[in-house]
Parts: sequence; structure tokens; C-alpha cells
Amino acid sequence: MFAAVNRRYERYDNAMIIELAPGIKFVRAQSAGFPYCHSILIDSEIRAVIDTGAGDKAFAPVEPERVDLVINTHYHRDHTAGNHLFPKARVLVHPLEYPPLVDEEARRYYAGLHRIDRISEINPMVIKRTRSDKIIPPRIFKVDGFLTDGDTIDFGHIQATVLHLPGHTPGHIGFYFEREGIVCGADIDLIPSGPWYGDYLSNLDDFEASIHRIIELKPRIYCCAHRKPLRDNIQEKLLQYLNTIGDTEDKVAEHLSHPLSLDELVGRNIIYKKYDYPYNAFWERNMIEKHLERMVKKERVVQVNETRYQLA
Ligand SMILES: [Zn+2]
Repeated sequence: MFAAVNRRYERYDNAMIIELAPGIKFVRAQSAGFPYCHSILIDSEIRAVIDTGAGDKAFAPVEPERVDLVINTHYHRDHTAGNHLFPKARVLVHPLEYPPLVDEEARRYYAGLHRIDRISEINPMVIKRTRSDKIIPPRIFKVDGFLTDGDTIDFGHIQATVLHLPGHTPGHIGFYFEREGIVCGADIDLIPSGPWYGDYLSNLDDFEASIHRIIELKPRIYCCAHRKPLRDNIQEKLLQYLNTIGDTEDKVAEHLSHPLSLDELVGRNIIYKKYDYPYNAFWERNMIEKHLERMVKKERVVQVNETRYQLA
């Protein structure tokens, strides 16, 4: 995800590798938050890495030149930044994540950056600077094949089923290691501030359905991209995480006792406590926009004129 600096991440001092089950290893990111993410190493007959954002130091003990397969759970840079560290690996993604990986225009469209200049003119809170482009310049990635929902990957003595878990992005995927009771849910990341759906193509209903799907699998161990692996109260934590979406919707509603436009709602810190990162207001706008659309559909909110909304 394009994680924001004021989201609450766990902080770590050292990179390290934790074995979750024989051959399934958690590669802890060398630093918390964007542009890093935790990765998974499958150390089987086929050696595979799921997401490459842990950082080159974290991957050094993995012996990257011996990795056969890289799987990106989605196109976001904190999950793909280290693809180049694995020179011999084939790269697999969901087909819906292919366009933003191979085409910069598509990446901007998925993120909603194609609208940023127009929105910046309407709302000066939405800043034009693209700081993360300076952290990791736009890059075109190599993709060798696709994974879709229900595919089984046979790594040798380890098998995993692909879970299409859309919402965060359209082709966001996770993995179910049924024998070991492990689910990897990538950016269904259980961070306390809740799900992130700040891309233009993020989808609230899909995100909620994807969280429910993981809850129903009743994982024994749950791995995600920005927290340490969880072993206790997983279903409860997933439900709490899911409920933050409804809490945000309630906060939006509280502001709409009198008519406000989407741009007037941005800047009221409904989602981000601070707008200290150039993209925060932009993402907040994208996220509130999705809530407004859904609240209109549910008839919780009505559109009172061309730009303003109010509680029904
Ligand atoms: Zn992401």
C-alpha cells in the first residue's frame, strides 16, 4: 500500500527471519512502513518470495539468487520494490495487477493520480507534490505469469491456495496454507488505524468481503504485510479491523448534519490525524469519496446540490 507516515506501524530494530511452519518463513522488514513491507519466504523444492518489500538487508540471508519465484500480492511499491533483487525468479501476479506494474499511465489511474491536478485546483489541501515518487522512482516491472482465485501452487512439500482478496486494490491476493493453518493476507494488514482504500480503484464492499473471507478460514496463524504474525484472537482482531470502516462512515455522517461537499470534508481529519505527508489529503479525499458514494446508495445521505451532501 501507499502507506502514510502517520499510520501506526509496529517499529523494529533488526531484520530477521521467523519460521512459522517447516519451510514457511516470515521475513521481517528492515524498517516499518512505506516503502517496506514484511515478506514470506517459501523454502521448499521451489523457493519463492511473497512480496519483495522487506529491504535488501532483510533479504540477504534468503540468498536472493537462489529464489525461483517472486509473487507480488499487488502492485503497490512497498510490495514490489525489491523485485530486482531476485534476478533468476519468475514473477507472478493477479491479472488485475498487471496493468499498473507494466504501464505508468495505468499505475496513475489505479491510484487516482490522473485526477490529482484537477482536485488540487478544487482543494488546495490536496498537494501536487509526489514525494513517494522521489523515494522510489516509477519503475516498469517484469511479469512472467498470472495467479487467480483458487489456483494451487505446489512448491514441493508445501502447497498454497491463492485467495483473490480485492478491495485494497482490484487484484490483491493472499495465500492459504491449509495443512499448516496459515493465511497470508498482505495489506489486509490489521494495523490499528484500519483498512486502507485510498486508491481510485480501491473498493469498500470488496474490502469488507475479503476480510470476512479470511475470518471464515479461521487461520491458526495470520500473516500480513505490516504487522508481526498473529497467533491469538485472530478472528476478533480481523472483526475489529473490519469495524473501523463502519466507524469511519459514522464519522463522515457526524459532519453531515449540515450540507458539505467532498472537498469541504477533506481537512477535517476524519481519517488522517495529520496531513504531514503530501498524499494524505489526496488519500483522505479518495477514501471519503467512497464512503459518500456508498452512503448515498444506502440512502443514509442525500446529495442536496451539485457538490454538497447531507444526512438523509
Ligand atoms: Zn498496498
